[in-house]
Amino acid sequence: MRAIAKTQPAPGQIMEIEVPPPTLGPSQVLLRVGGGGLCGTDLSIRRWDADIAAEYAPAFPHVLGHEFAGRIEAVGSDVEGIAIGAMSTVTPHINCGRCFYCNNGRHSLCTQRRIMGCHAPGGLAEQVAVPADNVFVLPDGTDPLVAAVIEPLTVACHAVLERVPITASDVALVMGAGPVALLHLLVAQAAGAAAVIVAGVAADATRLAIARQLGAVTVDQDSEDLAAAVRRVAPRGADVAYDASGHHDALAAALPALRRGGRLGIVGYCHAAAPFHSLPLALDEKELIGCRAYNRGTWVRSTALAAALTGQLRQLITHVLPFAEIDRAFTLLERRECMKVVVLPDG
Ligand SMILES: [Zn+2]
Ligand SMILES: [Zn+2]
Repeated sequence: MRAIAKTQPAPGQIMEIEVPPPTLGPSQVLLRVGGGGLCGTDLSIRRWDADIAAEYAPAFPHVLGHEFAGRIEAVGSDVEGIAIGAMSTVTPHINCGRCFYCNNGRHSLCTQRRIMGCHAPGGLAEQVAVPADNVFVLPDGTDPLVAAVIEPLTVACHAVLERVPITASDVALVMGAGPVALLHLLVAQAAGAAAVIVAGVAADATRLAIARQLGAVTVDQDSEDLAAAVRRVAPRGADVAYDASGHHDALAAALPALRRGGRLGIVGYCHAAAPFHSLPLALDEKELIGCRAYNRGTWVRSTALAAALTGQLRQLITHVLPFAEIDRAFTLLERRECMKVVVLPDG
């Protein structure tokens, strides 16, 4: 069968190749993949960054894809209660289920966690066999492309509904204008935010326009002071903020825009030191909260929310490309000439 794989532990080396079809274990289900999303993690795997290479250390060829969905084509002999033909999404996290964190429902902190598409084979293939426990069956009629982007939606649900929850009437600030940032916008709106401000830079002009179409107030930080712009919407400052930019300047920019007692979730991965002044943080009792991926329960929320947000999620999917155009997909991602890119086995 055809799959998108990294063929060697070196920069680049990602292509459509022929791989053996998966064998179905007794506690697994076989999925006919209907689409998979690409994200910054896939770009890091493409570049083969040193930290990624050391942490993931997969076998080669390594099938990519941690954001994917499809129809159930077969179920293993021990699997009950999952119907053939059901549209399903998959949590790519393989948790140990036994550690302190798993036993406390903090699956994102599992000390033995492996991720499909990162450490283990992923879902950018015609078919994939996954543990039945990782499958979340979606309502009949779910758009397969929407199903393919539920994984990053789940990341936004973890931050906005669980780690730094929004109270109805809150004003939320989102740093960054990429797909994960705009997913935070959508979840914040669904959670009852009075207004959501999305902050980008001049290079994000196209992405900020999409954010405005989705109902955000946008700020171009290259031409406007962020704290002043936020106070035009929320005179005290934003109640909550989420950094989905991963930029080392984001904390220093966002903290003055936050009201006293406000909370800021750190979602984007920043690989450099991010300087900020701690005194205002102490005096104003602001809080910085780490947000990593999601727990199993987060998927119950995100899969329910995906149905309500179908129209908006479709707006975020700017490119749907066949596996054969994987190079173009990565070029779009690298140049930020896209929002969400979904690839399919068939064009
Ligand atoms: Zn991702
Ligand atoms: Zn664990």
